[in-house]
Amino acid sequence: MTLATDHTNSPLPSPSPKGRGESVKPVGILGGTFDPIHHGHLRLAQEALEQCKLASVHFIPSGTPPHRNAPYAGAQQRLAMTRLALQGNPAFALDEREIHRSGPCYTVDTLTELRAELGTQQPLCLLMGGDAFLLLHTWHEWERLFELAHIVVMQRPGRNVDMQMADAHPGLRSRYHQHVQGSTDALRTAPAGAVLVRDMPALQISATDIRARCAAGKDIHYLLPDAVADYIYSHHLYTQHANH
Ligand code: ATP
Repeated sequence: MTLATDHTNSPLPSPSPKGRGESVKPVGILGGTFDPIHHGHLRLAQEALEQCKLASVHFIPSGTPPHRNAPYAGAQQRLAMTRLALQGNPAFALDEREIHRSGPCYTVDTLTELRAELGTQQPLCLLMGGDAFLLLHTWHEWERLFELAHIVVMQRPGRNVDMQMADAHPGLRSRYHQHVQGSTDALRTAPAGAVLVRDMPALQISATDIRARCAAGKDIHYLLPDAVADYIYSHHLYTQHANH
């Protein structure tokens, strides 16, 4: 089976499980609105790739996000910007499946599809920032996520996820303590079920801030790849909109 991914960057390592005794590298999944994609997203993926020794990271731009207002840029524009941002990194791939799905897009459905394509033994790692993890209990059928994938939470300095769990939703707190692991070995010894927290540097970048800069006529270079900034300028994106 193959992933519905754009591998034009270069061929990806095979995600299929290997023979007995061989270690299977986990595949990382990073979902987001990517409205637009920026260096915070890319650094999160790169840190997870290296720290968790992932085979690859698959970026999945959401179609109709269930938890938030409609994106500002069109689906095809967000897809194009994500494709531009991933260019040149053979370990990063674009997965278009959510963009082409009609109706609401739920991560649980995407992981179910990936699980069916990659088999029951392939370790999958759902990557997210600490801010996203603290809201996990609001996601559709969130408890099933632990059956389908590992969750790798990339925490930024000053935002210790373990400490933040004290004030988190009780159901999420209980799941966290049940599943949290200290070593990346847990990502290889089972296909799903571990929660791993790892550090990443602080990049105070958000898509909201980039859109606000565009609307104010300010420069957005160095917050995101040049190719994405150039795309935004040439398509006059985010100039007319007020932010959420
Ligand atoms: P918006 O500002 O429109 O809410 P965003 O920049 O936060 O967008 P999302 O698409 O909502 O981007 O985020 C996708 C994932 O990337 C989430 O898991 C989020 O935690 C993570 N993320 C976003 N920005 C950063 C950043 N600067 N550093 C690390 N992780 C980030």
